[in-house]
Amino acid sequence: RPVVIFLAAVIIVGIIIMVAISVIQNKPLHQKCKYGIVLDAGSSHTSVFIYEWPAEKENNTGMVRQKHTCNVQGKGISSYSANPQGAGASLQLCMEEAKQKIPAHRHPETPVYLGATAGMRLLRMENEEASDKVLDSVAHSLKSYPFSYQGARIISGQEEGAFGWITVNYLSKNLRKPTGTLGALDLGGASTQITFVPQQNIESYDNSIDFRLYGNDYHLYTHSFLCYGKDQALKLSMGKKLESTLKTDPIELRDPCFHPGYNFTRTVPNVFNTPCMREMKLANETFFHVGLGNWSQCQQSIRKVFNTIDCPYSRCSFNGVFQPSVYGDFGAFSAFFFVMDFLNLTSDTLATTKQKLAAYCSTPWKKIVENHPNIKEKYLSEYCFSATYILTLLEDGYKFTSNSWKDIRFIMKIGDSDAGWTLGYMLNLTNMIPAEAPDTPLMPYE
Ligand code: AMP
Repeated sequence: RPVVIFLAAVIIVGIIIMVAISVIQNKPLHQKCKYGIVLDAGSSHTSVFIYEWPAEKENNTGMVRQKHTCNVQGKGISSYSANPQGAGASLQLCMEEAKQKIPAHRHPETPVYLGATAGMRLLRMENEEASDKVLDSVAHSLKSYPFSYQGARIISGQEEGAFGWITVNYLSKNLRKPTGTLGALDLGGASTQITFVPQQNIESYDNSIDFRLYGNDYHLYTHSFLCYGKDQALKLSMGKKLESTLKTDPIELRDPCFHPGYNFTRTVPNVFNTPCMREMKLANETFFHVGLGNWSQCQQSIRKVFNTIDCPYSRCSFNGVFQPSVYGDFGAFSAFFFVMDFLNLTSDTLATTKQKLAAYCSTPWKKIVENHPNIKEKYLSEYCFSATYILTLLEDGYKFTSNSWKDIRFIMKIGDSDAGWTLGYMLNLTNMIPAEAPDTPLMPYE
């Protein structure tokens, strides 16, 4: 009998020690996790996100975290319009990886969603049959895995904006508290989104979206500008310059947004082959793309792609789109971050940012390549344009001022998870954000 009592005491003491350790480390003893997979089929690439959350806490804010990401090799799914089968096949490696990362017994209950964004919106505008075939191909591929397939679709620009906002506020744990929320600025290759809780009335129905989350009502302003992602904006801006150059022989595009000494031969249809540009029938002509490296001229040329004159509302961003004054703090992610982080421009004043960018743009192309031997030349050649575009979009387009510039935080991740629309999309479709606050009180660290 004393032996039994002794053993029981040892077990009880052991349990107490383990519980104490787990409390100190803030971790449950044996965490049963659930999983979800979202594929972000962007215009330039596809990423697979695997999310994980403790099975019993799924309704609490901030509990879902990113477990793993996989970048699909090759271009975005919209580039497979002439070979739709290739789109589905391109997902294989990352989906096999997902099978390894998620415990096998969870596979059948793990939802998989694919959301395609502006690259596919453009392909649908150009050739609906081809875009349907690409979607069928990725759907067919995803259904061949042991997960719970939930659909592959083109999401709207409004969804892209709103779910990006949900993601950043969920991860920042803003949603169950009376504190303010974080606006969301997202820049892709083919579209850009702005979403925030405004102080002013929203004058256009299309730009307003309402959520009730954890017992709070949010009245959001959101807009997605198709063709104003950074790759399409580059085409718009080059296209405008090219039109005035086409009569010269040889055709030479002298471009202030590219570095001095940069000189590449391109084909004209390569710039105009997008529904974002006015239909132009062009021979397969080549032109010389010559860099000048002049920041202020570059900004002048970029301004031409924004129509800031016509506005049928009390105030507009550009192209006749209503926008209330920007209000509160903003998280700027995706390409906003990639570009500004590369140039070390994430924490300066607006005036200093402009000065540094002007110096960068005027740096000879040869020197830029020498300084960054490991960066893809396509990205490298475009950082001057991209950053100038970002400044012009934020200042002239969205009307940030040198004062409100400090309210913009260029971010890639919050905690372990990437900022972007995918997490918000999954939280919404799995009903993981309840409309009313759950009974469980907020933990001190939530
Ligand atoms: P999307 O594919 O539509 O999500 O757009 C992503 C955009 O970010 C594209 O314009 C890409 O070219 C760009 N991008 C991705 N990674 C980088 C990087 N490291 N530096 C610069 N641009 C990037």
